Formats: sequence, structure tokens, C-alpha cells
Amino acid sequence: MQSLNPPIGLLGGTFDPIHFGHLRTALEIRNALNLAEVYLVPCYQPVHRKLPIATPEQRLAMVSCAVADEPLLKVEDCEIRRQRPSYTIETIEEFRKNKPRTPLCLIMGIDALLSFSSWHRWQDILKQCHLVIAHRPQYQIPHEGVIADLLKKCLTTDVNVIHETLGGHIILHPVTPLEISATDIRKQIATGHTPRYLLPEPVLEYIRNHGVYHITGI
Ligand code: ATP
Repeated sequence: MQSLNPPIGLLGGTFDPIHFGHLRTALEIRNALNLAEVYLVPCYQPVHRKLPIATPEQRLAMVSCAVADEPLLKVEDCEIRRQRPSYTIETIEEFRKNKPRTPLCLIMGIDALLSFSSWHRWQDILKQCHLVIAHRPQYQIPHEGVIADLLKKCLTTDVNVIHETLGGHIILHPVTPLEISATDIRKQIATGHTPRYLLPEPVLEYIRNHGVYHITGI
């Protein structure tokens, strides 16, 4: 059988705004698993949480600013182009259609894995791609329940598996713990404090120049 292309990573998020926690995670996983590249996929409208403050266009622009000088990280705007609530399965199906011979690795934080079984068509997601879980020490891996059963069935420590198969496996990979959150960044801005050093300078410039979080003087 014809061999597969090198795998790629997809990291979806609200990115309201994007910060170094997202970027370091994407790059460390790209390097550790030898992925061809990682696509950052800002959602149009998250399904499981309240609406973002920044518009989809602003969040897309901030992600673009963040990765402009890093060729291993790319931006994918398919969820924003769809202009409706963002279901990951639709994004995975679009990538699968365009890249039929490329293993897809859906990257998520362990916090996201814990609610994975509530995602729309989650079993189909796992059929079409691998899950790469960015392990952060303060989160516990569940020992019972749907996610524990899923890990028992699909977890592997063999990185070659994601180069040799199109989907169906789960890898847990520790990443440098950077306890940065977009919520905290928004809080700092709302109280007039600069979020400097938590996110790339060009993203902060964009926030300032476009008054993204409705505050000046940060
Ligand atoms: P918010 O604080 O608004 O909930 P967030 O900072 O958690 O936002 P999201 O856009 O919701 O960011 O996260 C997108 C993805 O990045 C998720 O899979 C999440 O688990 C992961 N992630 C978020 N923050 C970090 C971080 N500091 N380190 C590693 N992964 C992260």
C-alpha cells in the first residue's frame, strides 16, 4: 500500500486572545511527534461555552499575527468561513477530504479531553483522526467512566503509530506547564493592567490598535 504523508496537527480554540500557552503547546507537540506542521483553528462560535468578546475576524487576525514568523505553525480559517457554530467533526471532515492520505492529530488540553464525550459525534472524530493530549500536571487523568474506557482502548505511547495510521489512537504528551489563560488575560486588560509577557507582542499591538477588549492605555 502507498505510504502516508507526514502527519499534521490541528489545535482548535476560541483564542480570545491567543497566548503563549497555546503557542508553546502547538510547537512542543509538533517537535515531539515530528508533525509536518500544526494548524491553529479559531472557532467561529464555540458550542459549549459563552460567546467570545473579540469578533471572529479579530480572533483570526490575532492568531495570524501570533504565527506570522513561525513556518511550523499555520492558521486555518475554515470554521470562521462557515459562519455558524463550530463543530470539530466538520473541520476534521474538511481536512480529511482535502488530505485523504495525511494522518490528522487533533491537539487538545487535558481539560478539553475530560469533556470530549459531550462533543458532537465524538466517536466519528476519533475514527478520522488521532487525539494528542497536552498533559498538564494539575489535571488528573480519569480512572473510570467513558474517557477512562476510551483511554484504555486507544492510548498508545508509540509515536510511530500516528505516522502509520490515519486515526483512532490517543497520545498523552506532557508540555511545559504555562498557566496562562485567555480569561485571565481579559481580566487583566479589564482592570487596566498590561498582559505583556503572556502573549506575543504583535498580538498585544493588535489588541491596542483595534481596541479589541474596549480598554485603552494598556
Ligand atoms: P479561556 O480562558 O477563555 O477559557 P483558554 O486560554 O483556555 O481560554 P482556549 O482557546 O479555550 O483558551 O483553548 C484552546 C485549546 O488550548 C484547548 O484545547 C485548551 O485545553 C488549550 N489550552 C488553553 N490554555 C492552555 C495552556 N496554558 N497550556 C496548554 N494548553 C492550553
